[in-house]
Amino acid sequence: MCVLSGGLDTTLPKFRFHKITFLRSLKVRIFLILLIVGLIPCFVMRHAILQNYERRAISVRSSDIATQVRILANHLIARHYLEDTSSEVINAELEQLSNLYDGRVLIINTELKIIKDTYGISEGKTIISEEVIRCLRGESTEGYDRENGYIEMTIPIMETVAAADLPVGAGDSFELVRGVMLVSASNDSVIATMDSLNRQAMVVESIVGVLIFVVTLLVSKFLFQPFKKIIEALDQVQEGYTSEPISVPDCLETEHIGDAFNRVLGRMKMLDDSRQDFVSNVSHELRTPITSMKVLADSLITQKDVPLEVYQEFMTDIAAEIEREDKIINDLLSLVKMDRKASDLNISEVDINALVELIMKRLRPIAMRRDVQLVYESLRPVTASVDEVKLTLALSNLVENAIKYNKEHGFVKVTLDADHQYFTVQVEDSGVGIPEEELEHIFERFYRVDKSRSREVGGTGLGLAITKSAIRMHRGTIKVSSLEGEGTDFTVKIPLKYIAAQPGERRTRRKA
Ligand code: ADP
Repeated sequence: MCVLSGGLDTTLPKFRFHKITFLRSLKVRIFLILLIVGLIPCFVMRHAILQNYERRAISVRSSDIATQVRILANHLIARHYLEDTSSEVINAELEQLSNLYDGRVLIINTELKIIKDTYGISEGKTIISEEVIRCLRGESTEGYDRENGYIEMTIPIMETVAAADLPVGAGDSFELVRGVMLVSASNDSVIATMDSLNRQAMVVESIVGVLIFVVTLLVSKFLFQPFKKIIEALDQVQEGYTSEPISVPDCLETEHIGDAFNRVLGRMKMLDDSRQDFVSNVSHELRTPITSMKVLADSLITQKDVPLEVYQEFMTDIAAEIEREDKIINDLLSLVKMDRKASDLNISEVDINALVELIMKRLRPIAMRRDVQLVYESLRPVTASVDEVKLTLALSNLVENAIKYNKEHGFVKVTLDADHQYFTVQVEDSGVGIPEEELEHIFERFYRVDKSRSREVGGTGLGLAITKSAIRMHRGTIKVSSLEGEGTDFTVKIPLKYIAAQPGERRTRRKA
């Protein structure tokens, strides 16, 4: 029992998989479509033609038989055959009729007695059938038995009687039914013609099927040639033989695929370049403090009888370099954290006034050291759902920059405001400002406007990159305006309620 169920479990999915793979082939689909489109009309036409032929052939044959039988019925009356069936002429005519239509003729009188049967087996018997009775009332009937392949009809044998000879109360009719001719005629000739037609149509269908197969082979060969080329080109790129953009202009579709792939390739190349830049920037930034430390340590080692003050001075410099290295590593770690998904945010309801006040409090000693006045203006109480740690880091960077890149006796003004949807934090300073052409780069990693000043003030070039990532995670925006020599103004705008990204939103946005 166990073995059986195990066997079923493994074979069924495999079978389905093969079936689906087979149908997923474009060649197979084209073949099936052509086959359906080509063969269904043939099939329908064959059936329609055959049915139409059958209907017409039977109707022609029936009317032929009816004409012959009516003529014969008149002869029967003329020769008084119903009273005496010995007439050789009539018997010969009846024989001829049944031979001509490969059938049987019965002549029935008004007492429902069979007075003549061309097969000679039912004479003298009584026949009771609906058709015969209806016919005795003057109504001819006609029917086709498809299963056995014969036409059956009843024709009344009518005698024209003068009005004077009619019995009393018989009305005005001059025609009297004297008997019935029941004829069954074989339809074999029609069936034979239909069989032959059917065979011919089936031969045509088979030829069409073979033609479709050949056409599919040819079509798939020519149609799929460009796709084959594009797969080869993609394989070459993937195997690393070439990094050239691929181009297969044989047809519009392959051209589009090529263009789309080149765009992806371009983006991948750009990402790869920016990753390489980032790695080389990181190594460079990390190496700078180490080089300084090595120079300082080497000069201490190579000099003899170094005075204690020089030792202390050099060791202080080494400690400063270690601190710098530590800051770079910390900033890098923060940046990596910001690069993660927005779902890594730890959202809670935060009092933004208190948060900004705390930032100002922490930075006030640095501002005092640089003789920069720190002003905070809160236009209304604001509570928002944010990640407290990340937002603190983002705003601290802005305020710290405003202090670092300020002038002596300068000021930094932080303003908090909100509407019903967003809160804004504006950080204005009276500092050195940023040249207009540099503004678009300041959020890039390791980008510094004035390298020596940045180093001097302990910058790593990562602060604004961290700030931008943190704000973007909150679905907010950051804008900057600056006048060189006069000051800079950063404005951060963040939704009061955090809205998580919907699945597929990223893709839609990119498309837009
Ligand atoms: P850094 O660690 O060097 O300060 P940031 O990413 O924080 O790096 O800033 C990038 C560069 O932008 C800085 O090197 C500085 O030249 C410039 N910058 C940032 N904020 C200000 C500001 N408030 N005033 C003038 N220049 C600024």
